[in-house]
Amino acid sequence: MTSRVDLHAHTTASDGTRTPGEVVELAHRRGLSVLAITDHDTVSGVPEALDRAAQIGLRVIPGVEISAEQDGVQAHILGYLVDHRSVRLNEQLERFGEARLLRARQMLRRLESLDVPLHWDVIAGAAEEGVVGRPHIAQALVEAGHVASMEEAFGRYLSPGQPAYVPRPKTTPREAISIIRDAGGVPVLAHPWCIVFMLEDLVADGLLGLETHYRSYDSCQVNRLSQLALEHGLIRTGGTDFHGFEGETHSLGDIDVPPGCIADLDALHTSLLDA
Ligand code: AMP
Ligand code: ZN
Ligand code: FE
Ligand code: FE
Repeated sequence: MTSRVDLHAHTTASDGTRTPGEVVELAHRRGLSVLAITDHDTVSGVPEALDRAAQIGLRVIPGVEISAEQDGVQAHILGYLVDHRSVRLNEQLERFGEARLLRARQMLRRLESLDVPLHWDVIAGAAEEGVVGRPHIAQALVEAGHVASMEEAFGRYLSPGQPAYVPRPKTTPREAISIIRDAGGVPVLAHPWCIVFMLEDLVADGLLGLETHYRSYDSCQVNRLSQLALEHGLIRTGGTDFHGFEGETHSLGDIDVPPGCIADLDALHTSLLDA
């Protein structure tokens, strides 16, 4: 029996290309035994993933990846084993979703004033399924023939400094950690390599883990991050950040995760519930 694990995957509930059920099926085909669903700012894909996983015999860990920002620096906080049915959690995440919708409308208005109109309907599909992001708008610009590629869409219109860019209202890492812990989850800093300078503050805010193993990290990075995890008493996790985009370098499960990380997560989660 293999014990392959991937603790970072997106679905159509945010900006992934496959439905939660399809991601679970792919995980199963690839021989994974544990998969965490970690959509951006939503847990709406979790129930479908759990249902499909129960049918085919695979463990799905309910998760979320909250986009936070501090002093202009982005930090993504993964939340594992959150109670995805928590009313409070869902209300908090819905507020983020509504802010994203409003922002998408603002970006479309700006695009229209730049003579690259998009019909709201092309975004509405994404909006209905889950969380609307700039990738959805970039895709729509490609499909409408306004640009040749997603890269061009970001480069000309959607990146900060470009004319259709509208920032999102910011959640701080501290708020993100507290939302996750209030929902019984274990907060873990995602793809942390470039932001380890924030670690001390995040640990003071209640961070409990570090994504030491990430698709693009080499063994030097993994070792350094593992050392930091040890110094700060953090558990280690790992995942590919699977989206299902064409040309993605790492497919689902294409990663080694820290030995024992599932047991560590479970133990920490239990201790939080008991506390
Ligand atoms: P949002 O959360 O709506 O601001 O969108 C952020 C997402 O846009 C990131 O997670 C990336 O997946 C994507 N993104 C940002 N910049 C680029 C870029 N230059 N090319 C392609 N995708 C990008
Ligand atoms: Zn994403
Ligand atoms: Fe991320
Ligand atoms: Fe991610």
